[in-house]
Amino acid sequence: MMIVMQEQATEEQIEEVTQSLAKLGFDVHRSTGALRTVLGAIGGNRTFDQRLVEVMDGVSEVHRITEPYKLASRTFKPERTVVQVGDLRIGGDEVIVMAGPCSAETEEQVGETAAAVKKAGASVLRGGAFKPRSSPYSFQGLGEDGLKMLRGAADDQQMKLVSEVMDISQIELVGKYSDILQVGARNMQNYTLLRELGRTKKPILLKRGISATIEEWLLSAEYILAGGNSDVILCERGIRTFETYTRNTMDISAIPVVHKLSHLPIVADPSHGIGIRDKVAPMARASLAAGADALIIEVHCNPDQAMSDGAQSLYPDQFDRLMGELRIIAPAIGRSICRESLHGKALLR
Ligand code: PEP
Ligand code: MN
Repeated sequence: MMIVMQEQATEEQIEEVTQSLAKLGFDVHRSTGALRTVLGAIGGNRTFDQRLVEVMDGVSEVHRITEPYKLASRTFKPERTVVQVGDLRIGGDEVIVMAGPCSAETEEQVGETAAAVKKAGASVLRGGAFKPRSSPYSFQGLGEDGLKMLRGAADDQQMKLVSEVMDISQIELVGKYSDILQVGARNMQNYTLLRELGRTKKPILLKRGISATIEEWLLSAEYILAGGNSDVILCERGIRTFETYTRNTMDISAIPVVHKLSHLPIVADPSHGIGIRDKVAPMARASLAAGADALIIEVHCNPDQAMSDGAQSLYPDQFDRLMGELRIIAPAIGRSICRESLHGKALLR
C-alpha cells in the first residue's frame, strides 16, 4: 500500500501514520520527494480497510501497489533514483562508465588496465576477486590479494571500485575494499545473500539472472530494498535464449521496460551480454541509445592471456574508440558522458 502524504503534512503527522501502520503489522518505508513524502506499507493484513488510513491527518491519497514488487516500483516512487557513490551519481543525466578486467590477475595487469580505462574516461574500475565460474576447475579469483590490487589501482587512478560478492561470508571483506558490491547473475536468486545485502550501507549492483524475467529481477531488488538498502543499481547482462551464436542475448529492450516499471538506475553490461569482443561496442552504443544509466565493460591489456572472459574483453584502444563514439550518442538523447578522454577519437563506424 502506498500512502501519499499531503504537501503540507507535518513531521508529527507522518510519524503518527508510520506508527499506526507499524502497529497494524506493516513494514513502513519512507520516500521523501521534493514535494511530498510517500510511505510504502508492506505486509500487514490483506483484508485491511485502507479507509482507516485515508482519514488520518496529513494523508492525501492511499493506493494499493498492484505490482508484486513494491519498493522497486514506479508506483511507489515516481521519480528516478540516483545512487550516489562518493561524488558519482548513477541514474542522473551523466552516463557513468565502469570498466576493467573480468578478474584481477596481477598487480601489473590491474594497474595497466585501470590506467588505460581511466585515461579513456571511465570513472569506476571493475574487476572480480571472487569469480563465479561455471566450472570448478576454472580460475576462481585471487580473493583478498585481488581486492588489494583492485583497490590500489582504483586509488591510484582516483576511481571507484565495483567487485563481486558471492556469499554472505565475503560481504565484510569485499565491502572493505570496494565502493559498490556486485551480485552476479548466478546469485540473483540467492535470497539469503540479498537479504544480508539489504542490511549493508554499500550500493549494490544487481545483475539479472541468466534466465530471469524482468519481474523476477525486480523482486530480487525488492529483497535488498526491503532490508533497508535503497541504493540498488540493476544490471542487464544478457539472458539465455535459443540462440547459440552469441554467448547470451543482450536484452536491450529490458532497459526501457525497467525504466518504466522501476525508479532504479540500470547499467548495461554488453561484454557478458553478447560475449564476443568485436560485437561489444555495437551493443554498448545501442544500450546507451536505449537509455542505460551506466555501462560496465570488460577491458584487458592482453585479453588473449586473460584468466577469464578474454574473448569478450576489449583491448584498451578499442575501449578508447568506443568512448569517443558514446560521446557522440549521449547528447542526442539528452545525456552527457563522463569526462572527455585524453585521446578518444570521436568516430562512429
Ligand atoms: C562478471 O562480471 O565478470 C561476471 C561473472 O558476470 P555475470 O555474473 O553477469 O556472469
Ligand atoms: Mn566476466
